[in-house]
Amino acid sequence: MSDPQAQQTAAHKVVVIGSGFGGLFGTKALRKAPVEVTMVAKTTHHLFQPLLYQVATGILSEGEIAPPTREVLSSQPNAQVLLGEVTDVDLEARTVTSHVLGRETVSRYDSLIVAAGAAQSYFGNDHFSEYAPGMKSIDDALELRGRIFGAFEMAELGANRGDDIDHLLTFVVVGAGPTGVEMAGQIAELAHRTLKRDFRAINTREARVILLDAAPQVLPPFGQKLGEKAKAELEKLGVEVILGAMVTDVDERGIEMKFKDGRVERIKTVTKIWAAGVQASPLGKTLAEQTGAPLDRAGRIGVNPDLTLPGHPEVFVVGDMIALDNLPGVAQVAIQGAKYAAKEIEGRLAGKAPQGPFKYFDKGSMAIISRFRAVAMVGKLRLTGVIAWLMWLAVHLVYITGFKSRVTALLHWAVSFLGRGRSERTTTEQQIFARSALARLRRGATDLVSEPGAYDAARQMMETTRREELEALALEEARLTDSGARGVPAEQR
Ligand SMILES: Cc1cc2nc3c(=O)[nH]c(=O)nc-3n(C[C@H](O)[C@H](O)[C@H](O)COP(=O)(O)OP(=O)(O)OC[C@H]3O[C@@H](n4cnc5c(N)ncnc54)[C@H](O)[C@@H]3O)c2cc1C
Repeated sequence: MSDPQAQQTAAHKVVVIGSGFGGLFGTKALRKAPVEVTMVAKTTHHLFQPLLYQVATGILSEGEIAPPTREVLSSQPNAQVLLGEVTDVDLEARTVTSHVLGRETVSRYDSLIVAAGAAQSYFGNDHFSEYAPGMKSIDDALELRGRIFGAFEMAELGANRGDDIDHLLTFVVVGAGPTGVEMAGQIAELAHRTLKRDFRAINTREARVILLDAAPQVLPPFGQKLGEKAKAELEKLGVEVILGAMVTDVDERGIEMKFKDGRVERIKTVTKIWAAGVQASPLGKTLAEQTGAPLDRAGRIGVNPDLTLPGHPEVFVVGDMIALDNLPGVAQVAIQGAKYAAKEIEGRLAGKAPQGPFKYFDKGSMAIISRFRAVAMVGKLRLTGVIAWLMWLAVHLVYITGFKSRVTALLHWAVSFLGRGRSERTTTEQQIFARSALARLRRGATDLVSEPGAYDAARQMMETTRREELEALALEEARLTDSGARGVPAEQR
């Protein structure tokens, strides 16, 4: 009889880096393959990034767009989830090294799918991030929610004290791509609709919402006509659109911008939101150094037409990390790339011929501007208004992971779009300040947690010292009692 353990160790090992669109869809596509999949990711959830702005503006809860990956994969026996930030990939040794709070794990692979995505880019001005958070994670969205709703609270306080509150009621979104447009539209709806009856000292409808970009048009990938339509819709909502303006400085109380004619202007604003650029995961650089594959300016790695790395057919890179045929950084590129890689791995194990180069099928793009208003591009079709908005609704319902999340998201959309409420307005001090506070610690959260072994050693030392102290105290107590200095003297009892 064969030894099941021996069979298990002999299984083809696939390591997947990342639990985003590429990572999760790649892992799921391997569910029937004779492989053992380890998905290593630095968060415990899968994140539906396109709806982050709705968490930031109180429409959806974080749980609805970020289901736990363990739960999603619980019925896939050949997949396991490993928490950790991948810090190194050794292509020679075929290992992936990950860390979490000082704990290191080395995972060996036979095939590797790298889907570590991209982070926010401040175009070399990383210090802007302190006062202009980006929108790439649940932490970012909750921080922004706290900052946006918090600004209205501070304005109410300021108005009661007779202070100048213009900077508190001015919101600036940098970047007029889909994320910036959606964010600006939602803040305008908050100010003009949702919050209009909730404050006493301020009129939230007087809030300024500004969308600015260095590009000459809104939504550049959607073409000029849809861009102009989106701009007009935003302006109808009360959003001020400033184009051709490059941000040159950001501080606690404002943002400075420079126009093409050399003019420099400053906007007094406390709440700045950065939706302007992306930089691929630094793992791209690690892989480029080991293979000689080129990196573009956004840190994306050039891959072979079959998404593998030069000289390493066992390593696939997918999604936002790749530079191939000008593919856009969108969810479908990651999903289709990951499914392609999974199919190739399974096909190789079954002795099948290679599939041929990866071909991206463009299913279209869309951006929502406000309730019942969106723009969409599907093939040659250009749609606007309610039809585009209904399409947006349908597509997002299909792609939100899990039935539970779909039902609750639909309910929350009804609350926000049919009514004027927002179901998720809770904000906390920690959400607003934790990122900056952690950044000021030398090693972030790791500074707050003991290294493995260090806790036990420290505790043992404390216990020994404490025991000696306690024994000395007990001896002293006994001496005092024996000498009659303790308790009630016998003659007074
Ligand atoms: C705010 C926003 C709105 C968007 N809107 C749209 C939209 O409307 N339509 C659309 O098609 N696309 C949209 N996108 C783009 C889309 O989300 C991305 O193209 C897609 O997520 C890329 O998938 P990916 O798997 O490459 O990366 P991601 O989905 O970003 O996944 C990366 C994963 O890798 C993990 N990771 C990163 N580094 C490490 C590491 N060192 N170790 C371990 N794990 C790591 C991350 O935690 C994450 O799980 C939007 C993006 C953002 C930020």
